[in-house]
Amino acid sequence: MITDMHTLTKSQYLIDLEDKYGAHNYHPLPVVLERGDGVFVWDVEGKKYYDFLAAYSAVNQGHNHPKITAALIEQVQKLALTSRAFYNNVLGEYEKFITEFFGYDKVLPMNTGAEGVETAMKLARRWGYEKKKVAENAAKIIVCENNFHGRTISIISASTDPDSYGNFGPFTPGYIKIPYNDTSALAEALKDKNVVGFLVEPIQGEAGVVVPDEGYLRACAEMCKAANVLFIADEIQSGIARTGKMLACDHENVKADILILGKALSGGLYPVSAVLANDEIMLCIKPGQHGSTYGGNPLACKVAIAALNVVVDEKMAENSEILGELLRKELRAIKSDMITLVRGKGLFNAIVIKEKNGKTAWDVCIKMAENGLLAKPTHGDIIRFAPPLVITKEQILDCARIIRETILSF
Ligand SMILES: *Cc1c(COP(=O)(O)O)cnc(C)c1O
Repeated sequence: MITDMHTLTKSQYLIDLEDKYGAHNYHPLPVVLERGDGVFVWDVEGKKYYDFLAAYSAVNQGHNHPKITAALIEQVQKLALTSRAFYNNVLGEYEKFITEFFGYDKVLPMNTGAEGVETAMKLARRWGYEKKKVAENAAKIIVCENNFHGRTISIISASTDPDSYGNFGPFTPGYIKIPYNDTSALAEALKDKNVVGFLVEPIQGEAGVVVPDEGYLRACAEMCKAANVLFIADEIQSGIARTGKMLACDHENVKADILILGKALSGGLYPVSAVLANDEIMLCIKPGQHGSTYGGNPLACKVAIAALNVVVDEKMAENSEILGELLRKELRAIKSDMITLVRGKGLFNAIVIKEKNGKTAWDVCIKMAENGLLAKPTHGDIIRFAPPLVITKEQILDCARIIRETILSF
């Protein structure tokens, strides 16, 4: 597939293996990784790369973080899973920790991000019927165009991306889709008395790190409050220090009624997601009405506590804020008509690539990989830059150099 990268037999063998036996639901860059440490990953040939995707921001704390890994190893040797049929001695400690950490009465633990979003939507509907007194089966949730909230049937029913929803119908009803970053559209949609929630990414990640206007989140939260509608923030990708604050909503001092976390909540070691809300909302779900076999298992709880602690102890939000600023400055200084836009917040960034001599964002990513930096195009022409937040200033400058030299080589 690529000839000028050192594609040796070992990588190709492993790529072919996946191609033959795995479903073709992804289109990875032709790099086969076997080891990671901090901001670096190594392929099976021993080539070293900067990881500028960080597993879609699941690895904010860096690969193989010693403290999170130690927490996992210690707990896995004691007790990994009990199910929620019994109490375990770690869940309560974790629930106290995470609710105090983010300032909510209660947490509902799940595993993947999609499960977190599903949980939030169920919770909003339940609250709508029990507290807002919406008529049976009439509840609606407002979502934004170009959202990404996961892959379940109900979540893709809220998607406007044909790749996500095409030929997967019939779809779950009850969504109103409005443009992102558009408060008038929200005002209009909120006139519907059956609306129970507004589900939004504070920065749209998969859409290509789309940062809304300043004040958008605050305005949305206020409008929702006035309309007695829950403001639901999907911070699965934007949260946990990625944008330079613990939560992206913190930039506007907005507190969501329902907060959804995932990805870096475990530092990438284990699937851990969480839905946070206050009692008025969370206690609408009673025993037996929602759950997950793995949700709240002691291993996940210990990993999440460690993962959140290192973010604070190592000042990752501050680092993200400062180095994000520096990275954007460096990217904007690249003199090439191939880069038409640089945007982002903290170390959550993207560039928009204009095709040049038939070379696309995909070709740029292949070339960057050759030069030792891994990033992945999204929507054809956008490249996201989201390295682990443990990256240093020297490393950011080195990465900016790799990106600049790559772009200028076209
Ligand atoms: C990744 C992501 C999800 C889905 O998480 P999974 O763990 O892949 O199910 C949902 N919302 C946002 C904003 C995401 O970035």
